Parts: sequence; structure tokens; C-alpha cells
Amino acid sequence: MKAHTKETQATMTPEKSLQQLKEGNQRFQENLKADRNLIEQVKDTSTGQFPFATILSCIDSRVSAELVFDQGVGDIFSARVAGNFVNDDILGSMEFACKLAGTRLIVVLGHTACGAVKGACDDAKLGKLTGMLENIKPAVNAVTSPEDPSLRNSSNIDFVNEVAAKNVQLTIARIKEDSEVLNEMHNSGEIQIVGAMYDIHTGAVTFYE
Ligand SMILES: [Zn+2]
Repeated sequence: MKAHTKETQATMTPEKSLQQLKEGNQRFQENLKADRNLIEQVKDTSTGQFPFATILSCIDSRVSAELVFDQGVGDIFSARVAGNFVNDDILGSMEFACKLAGTRLIVVLGHTACGAVKGACDDAKLGKLTGMLENIKPAVNAVTSPEDPSLRNSSNIDFVNEVAAKNVQLTIARIKEDSEVLNEMHNSGEIQIVGAMYDIHTGAVTFYE
């Protein structure tokens, strides 16, 4: 498999981009890899990059977007922050990736048993982490069930995973609300923005469509 070029990138619709990620994750789950010469891809991309998707995921060591979607050098823009939320810096990065560098798909990828989500559920306090977790609190508050406070913490993994799913939804809403550039591209059909959840037990990505 060759690195993307200006010509191949131009053929990538949002739908086709999504399909490539789905196929890549299927390979990952089957422990298969597309036949790539990574160092050849390094050489081929040295004069320019033409990725087809932008993926926002968690820093979690188990959830590398390139690995779980079986992608090579120059295939995807990868933004990572604990808890996969957006702020102005990440939105600016996404605007670059879509408007200037030509990717047609944004994926917000959450994952099960996310430590950052657990921290937000538990109201963890530590240095700069305290403020960072505030970005995930809206998702905690938006999951209204169960009401019993003793069940609304990281010891309840179902609650944690529901908050992670809600966090993906709220992040997508925030991308559209806070980025005029991306909202316009979304409304005109130039890009799609989709949410997804990675299961740390199986390696499977489920897209919310
Ligand atoms: Zn995480």
C-alpha cells in the first residue's frame, strides 16, 4: 500500500474515508496489516502530505489511531489529549487539517475504561490535571442515570463508559458550535464528523452513525 498523494487524496470522499478506517480496524482485529513499506512511505511523503482523515483520540497507550485503524505514514492527522475533548488549540489544528490540508473526515474516538473519564467521574485533583478534567465534567453531568451518588464514580464501569460515549457526542457538538470553519464545511458536505468508541477488550471500533 502506497502513501496517499495529492491525486489519491482528491478521490477520498467522507464516506470513502470512513470505509477505509472501518476496513483498517477490521484488519487490526484480525491481526492483519496492509502491506506497507513504512520507510518508503517516509520517502514518498517527504515532499508533502495528503492524509484523508483527522482523528481525535485519547493519549491512552492502548489507543493509537494509526495502530487501531492500521494506517501508515501520511494517512491520518492524529490529535491526542487525555479524554479526547476539544479546545481552541485542537480546533485550530482540525481547521488546518480539513480546510488547508484536505482531510474530509473527522473522527472523535473515545474508548472504554478511559482513565481521564474516570478521573472526571471521581472529581480527581492533581496539579494541571484538575483543570483539564473540567473539560470532561459536562459529560459526567449530562449522564443523569444512575442518580445514586455512590454509583456515579469510577467503580461503576457502565457509568464510566456511558460518560465516555456522552463525551464523544458533546465533543462533536462543540466542534460544530465553536468552529465556524468546520461547521460550514460540515453543513456543505465537504467533511463529515463522526463519533466512535474503541473497546479496549476487543480492539473493535464502533462508529456512531
Ligand atoms: Zn482515555
